[in-house]
Order: sequence, then structure tokens, then C-alpha cells
Amino acid sequence: MHFQEKSRILAYLRSAFSAAHPGRMAVVAGISLSAAVVAVAVPGSAPAPFQVNLLEQLPMPAIEYLDSMDQPFVREGSVERGDTLASLLARLGVQDQDLNQFVATHPEARALLRALRPGVAITVTTTRLGRLLSVSLPQSGADGRLLISRQAGQFVVSDQPAQLESRVRMSSGEIRSSLFAATDGIGLPDSVATSLADIFGGNIDFHTDLRRGDRFSVVYEMLYHQGAAVRTGRILAAEFVNAGRRYSAVWFVGADGRGEYYSADGRPLRQGFLRSPLEFSRVSSGFSMRFHPILKQWRAHRGVDYAAPTGTRIRATADGVVEFIGKQNGYGNFILLRHQGSYTTAYAHMNGFAKGLQRGSRVSQGELIGYVGSTGWATGPHLHYEFRVNGEQKDPMRVALPQSAPLIGSQLSAFRERSAGVLAQLALAGAPQAVALRD
Ligand SMILES: [Zn+2]
Repeated sequence: MHFQEKSRILAYLRSAFSAAHPGRMAVVAGISLSAAVVAVAVPGSAPAPFQVNLLEQLPMPAIEYLDSMDQPFVREGSVERGDTLASLLARLGVQDQDLNQFVATHPEARALLRALRPGVAITVTTTRLGRLLSVSLPQSGADGRLLISRQAGQFVVSDQPAQLESRVRMSSGEIRSSLFAATDGIGLPDSVATSLADIFGGNIDFHTDLRRGDRFSVVYEMLYHQGAAVRTGRILAAEFVNAGRRYSAVWFVGADGRGEYYSADGRPLRQGFLRSPLEFSRVSSGFSMRFHPILKQWRAHRGVDYAAPTGTRIRATADGVVEFIGKQNGYGNFILLRHQGSYTTAYAHMNGFAKGLQRGSRVSQGELIGYVGSTGWATGPHLHYEFRVNGEQKDPMRVALPQSAPLIGSQLSAFRERSAGVLAQLALAGAPQAVALRD
């Protein structure tokens, strides 16, 4: 059984490597060879390692709620010679005239009239009684479709991306120097790396907390258009072991229809404060790795300094209201945010502020508020960040913050049911066999 798992991961690595890095086939060949040697050394009839599917088709966790009672009627048809909008809609079973009027009075909907050429495929959705909900048609010169949909009684025109096919991928790695070095090494896209930093941003400061030997596993969607990978989709589950502490995240859509990441025991991950006020990127991550921030000086200094290039994006660590924005002596360009309870956060030495931000503005967690600079008493570009309770600077790591309520009852059961499969995948992605094969 271990053997089968290993060969599956090998096969996965092989396909991921060859897809993302055609130039790295030599490395892949090396991995395959060592696996082949292992295979020979095992007596008996172990399954042949490379006859396993290259990319495992995992059952998609059912993350959308579909209420069959509310399902619209979908009808597809082609434009015929001589069709008018009215004749086309009548043939598709649409019983109302509102669209005719909308198209006549809204220039952005005229594309619908231009599309009335023989053969063009039109899709409509209607209610049970034939009231039009939406009409979609191919966009000329693009893969996507134009969608005209009824929203709150009004028609709205929007672009609909090309129908993408989603496949689930899994991957795992270990940190030697930086997160990006690790993700590059296993061919994981940058967007997945930054999403990981986002998902675990309430627990781990990816600028300061990462340690050599930290490990991560991730199960994510890759979206394909006509067989070609187009972009990454959502991370379905992830695990990060930081300095020996294990954090898990599972995407789950709750009863209110909103998706969120939860820990394996059903606690929302997004809560309280982000650990880092700096947006995590390839540039900012490399910078702080070289100039390790002065966390140890906190006691004397009453704040945390993040060395980062001028212009690095600074974000609000929690929802709040701007209480001060402007110049303040040694702090230079300075922002003070007031949060729920008795908490405030302070951001100093900024190069500039986010456009439109002023005293009284509301900001949400993770929102851009300004850029790293060296205004005020600063010897080089860095962000001086303070976390205050009742106006007094505190070490954010030592303050017990209020926790969000965990899932309970039927929500918790639904979460357990939906997360079991993807957590098993995660365990498989991070299995020691896979880790051992990296070099
Ligand atoms: Zn400072």
C-alpha cells in the first residue's frame, strides 16, 4: 500500500515537472530512475509504478450547494437564417418581452443583435414559467461569452470567462531557504505560494516566521481550457508545519453560502489580526530573508520593524477605521487604525498612502493602506508596525485575541463529511515518501 502511494506521487511529480518545467526533464529522469531501482529491490508482485494514472482524478469535494428546486431551465439553440431576437427567443421558450426593450435601449447589449447570424450558439435560462433569467452568447474574437442576466429586476451585461475544466492537483515541499525557492523546486505556481501565505496569514508571518525544515502540502485546482492549463483555481486544502506546529486549512461553504477556510477541527482561519502588515510577494519575501527583522528588539523598541523595498504594499492587519493619517514627527508618514475592542495598529515611515484613504475611512483586513518608505526618523526603507491595546504598545504575539466561533451541530457534520476526502489527499501529498524523494 505504501508502495502504491509512492508510485502515485512519483507519477504526479513527473507530470507536474514535465508540464511546468520542460527543461527539467533530466531531474525528473533522475527521480524516476531511483524509483525504478526501489521497485526492483522489492520482492514479490508490487504494482508497476508507472502504470498508475499520471494525474489522479480526485472526486471533487461537493463545495457548492445546488438546490434542485431553484434550478433554472437551460435551453440551448442556434440562430437560424432570418431569425429576429423575438423569433429566436420564442423558439427557445422565452415568454417575456423585457429583453427586446433592454436591447433596444442599451448599447452594450447590441452585441446580441450582431450575433444573430446563422449557427451562433445561444444559451438561455428561464424560470419554470418562461421568464428570462439570462442569455449568453459567444464573444467575437474571444474564448469567453457575453452574459446578459436579470439581477434584482434589471438586466446586466457582463463578460463570462471561457468554460474551464477543473482538475485537482496535489503537491508538497520543504523550506530550505525561502518559500519561493521551495515552490519553484516542485513547480508550484506563484499564485499558490501567495495564496498559502494568505490562508495561513493569521497564524504565520511569512516574512519572519519561516524556518528551515518547515513543510507544506497543498491540494488545489488547476483550470484547463481545451486540454491546456490556463490558470490555478482555488486551494481546496493545505497544511503548513511551521517551527514544529501544524496548521491545516480546508475550504468550506457554510450555510450562509459564503466560502471560507477552516482548520481541520472546524474553526475559521480568518480571524483577529493578520500576523504580517506587509503583503507577501517574491520581492518582499526575499528582502526580509536577507535583512531579518529585529523581533528580538521588541522590548526596547515597542514595535516590529520590517525591512522591505520602498513601495512594498502595506495592508491593514484587521478590519478598522482610520483614526490618524498624515505626518507625525519621527514616525514620518503615519497611519493609526482603530479596530474592534480596545485594539489599534500603527504603521510608520510610509512612502505614501493608498489613494482616497482619509480620517474616518473604513478598511477591511488585508486592504492596501500605503507603501513602505523611509520618512521620519528612519535610516532605510522599512515599516515600523505597532500593535496597541488601550493605546499601549504590546507584543502581538503575547496578546490573547478573541477567537471566532467554531462550526457546530449540522454545519460541523457537513464540514466533517466534506473535508474527510480532501484531508486524506492532503495526508497523501505530504506523506514522507514524497518528501524523501525531493533530492
Ligand atoms: Zn521601528
